[in-house]
Amino acid sequence: MDESADPVVEEVISLLQDSGGEQYFGEAVTKLQHAEQCAWHAQQAGADEELILASLLHDVGHLIDTESTIRDDRAGVINHDDAGRRWLLERGFSARLAALVGGHVDAKRYLTATNAAYVERLSPASRETLRLQGGPMDESSAEAFAREPELRDMLRLRSWDEMAKDPKWQGPPVASYREMLVRHLSRRGR
Ligand code: FE
Repeated sequence: MDESADPVVEEVISLLQDSGGEQYFGEAVTKLQHAEQCAWHAQQAGADEELILASLLHDVGHLIDTESTIRDDRAGVINHDDAGRRWLLERGFSARLAALVGGHVDAKRYLTATNAAYVERLSPASRETLRLQGGPMDESSAEAFAREPELRDMLRLRSWDEMAKDPKWQGPPVASYREMLVRHLSRRGR
């Protein structure tokens, strides 16, 4: 490791790479492909680096095993949004990045409550996990979520998440985000 190497960056990259062979629940892509594809869509859409990295890491909660993770045989870590959010905060990722990751399941619950066209776009597996995630938000939860400061970017991330399930996609690997990760984490403690 050179002097600029950051152990958290290497930990994150390895975690994603090691998940390379694992299927992303009920989809035709692996968890690694899903993460890479989601980050790529963010980049294509002109997202800022924090949002690109949040897209890359949005499902990190599925890859970790902590005291707070609750597992289901079919759907993986049920609370992967909150588990991922905490895990990222502990490692020095920014509050905004962690909030974007932490909100990606609620974004789905919000959209299924407020946007009929969105429900049509959900894959069968994603409709199935929606039930386990609490189903569409009720009116008062949706009203509260609509006031979320990161609402717009949470919904953007969610749309890339939905798109990131193409088995034929080829694009930049997770390791190509190393410098971006180093830049993001270098702001820790400032
Ligand atoms: Fe996802």
